[in-house]
Amino acid sequence: MISVMTTSENAVEAGAGLDYDTLTMMLETVRDYVRDAIPDERLLQLDHEDECPVDLVRGMCGDQLGIQLLFIPEEYGGMGGSTIDVYRICEQMAYLDVGIATSVLATFLGSDPIFVGATPEQKSRWLTEIAERGVLYAYGATEPDAGSDLAALKTTATPVLSDGTVTGYRISGRKQWISNGGIADKYTILASAPGGPSWFVLDRGAEGFTQNRPEDKHGIRLSNTAALFLDDVFVPAGDLVGGVEGQGLLQAQKVFGYTRVMVAAFGLGAGWSALDRAIPYSATRIQGGAPLSEKQGYTHKLIVPHVVRLEAARAFIEPVATRIDAGEGVDGALNTEGAIAKYLATEAGNQAADAAIQAHGGYGYTREYLVEKIRRDVRITTIYEGTSEIMEMTIARDRWQRHLKTAGRYYLDSAAGLRALDARHPDVGAGAAAVACEALASVLEACRAGRLTRNQHVLLRLGELIAAAEGAGCFAGRAAAALDDELPEKADHRFDGTALAAMSRVFARDAALRVACDGPRWVIGAGGTFPGGLWLDAACAAQEGLIADMDRVADVLYGRAGAGILPRI
Ligand SMILES: Cc1cc2nc3c(=O)[nH]c(=O)nc-3n(C[C@H](O)[C@H](O)[C@H](O)COP(=O)(O)OP(=O)(O)OC[C@H]3O[C@@H](n4cnc5c(N)ncnc54)[C@H](O)[C@@H]3O)c2cc1C
Repeated sequence: MISVMTTSENAVEAGAGLDYDTLTMMLETVRDYVRDAIPDERLLQLDHEDECPVDLVRGMCGDQLGIQLLFIPEEYGGMGGSTIDVYRICEQMAYLDVGIATSVLATFLGSDPIFVGATPEQKSRWLTEIAERGVLYAYGATEPDAGSDLAALKTTATPVLSDGTVTGYRISGRKQWISNGGIADKYTILASAPGGPSWFVLDRGAEGFTQNRPEDKHGIRLSNTAALFLDDVFVPAGDLVGGVEGQGLLQAQKVFGYTRVMVAAFGLGAGWSALDRAIPYSATRIQGGAPLSEKQGYTHKLIVPHVVRLEAARAFIEPVATRIDAGEGVDGALNTEGAIAKYLATEAGNQAADAAIQAHGGYGYTREYLVEKIRRDVRITTIYEGTSEIMEMTIARDRWQRHLKTAGRYYLDSAAGLRALDARHPDVGAGAAAVACEALASVLEACRAGRLTRNQHVLLRLGELIAAAEGAGCFAGRAAAALDDELPEKADHRFDGTALAAMSRVFARDAALRVACDGPRWVIGAGGTFPGGLWLDAACAAQEGLIADMDRVADVLYGRAGAGILPRI
């Protein structure tokens, strides 16, 4: 028994999650446990045979690794890990295998409605058994006809009355694409009761409840995904989460900020897993008389931009996690930030894994080098827990409202903050990030004047540009914090401040140019007018020094700069 979770008596400080040493030990233990149990050859075999390593998942979520304790508050026998702790562990798990990470996280997702909505007695009953017995959960929301639009759900919960009192419900319907669907012990099921959508907790063996065979999936083939069939399944009234009907969608909404940060961490982990294979490969692969790592046309297309995008996503994830831990995320208050984190990280992870195949040439196209598997695995992260398009919509709608409510000041104020940062730290890309925000403010204003967000495509493209501009602002802030030695202890410290500053400059230039080019493109394309080329000029001017900065990032990644990068835990 490894029991990393119980080795430190002082592992948990009130509200702060794990202490630094315990988190570090946990990251190492998760890595060693999974690598020992499933070395690369076995990973490939399980992927090929489409098999979920159930014993490994149960070992991780039970008495061997006890990872479930991280998710459970101390009062129910867990360790009360903070959002930062959970993000770091999720990244580590996804670095090893997104399918296994999905299986582990499914219990956490499945118990989310309980965290936010259950009565004290229910929490004590259900959360304690996860902590003590490693009970596996599945989260049953999606249906064949209700995916992005959960309100369209058709599964029903019909009250069973005895002497005029509701003693239970009979649930009928079908759930689709449920992670752990075929292997879970318990299921949280969203069903439409007379009072509205509501969560119920079901046992695997309930009469009338069957699970389909696993889906034959494109990726995460180590994760069990199955449809669920509910045919008049009886659930006692005490197993309606919270005891009140109609709270289901609200309860699901309340935790999106948090859960989307976790899936963002999956994108980060998988993207880095692919790049951490491509980088050493390119250092030893000789073509044209020299290693590929010395070919600028290779590194600056296939490696550097992807490292930059992943680290920009991290720069967004960490402050969101910190804000959630500070109590700001109550009742879904940080759902948009979670959406930006997920959008940036999962899109970056996908692109990184795709580039890693290209970086390996023909070898990347075969199974042996694993980047092909990572590419298939990470693909799911832009689909589940809200697709990228739904993220774009969430981001755009919220920030559009802020633009309107502040009479156009929202991104101008952000830009002013970045200009102040630029004055203190002219080397972190804050100036270019400010250009991105200023251009964005103009684009939003042009959309308002022309009433252009009536075009859904314009609205969603705004979501993309907003994520880029906000990502650039956060990255500049992270680089400055690293230079000032002010990054939180539990943040990722793989790159030093100088390396992060170079990456941030590359990202901010890209964001500025994208907003300044694509913004007018959609405005004018939708029939609006855009005030001149002011921001385009500024964004073009900001490109000065781009190639030199990409050279710097490449030097860091290939150890040519002498310092800047640490080995990964
Ligand atoms: C491997 C896997 C594991 C999963 N695990 C779980 C789980 O454990 N529990 C669970 O409940 N669900 C799970 N899901 C379901 C997942 O969350 C949904 O697949 C996802 O939310 C998308 O829903 P959908 O598949 O019905 O696609 P749809 O909603 O039909 O979307 C199809 C496409 O249309 C786009 N689209 C949808 N609505 C709009 C709109 N209004 N405007 C513009 N574009 C739109 C989407 O972005 C997408 O590109 C899983 C799915 C997979 C594949």
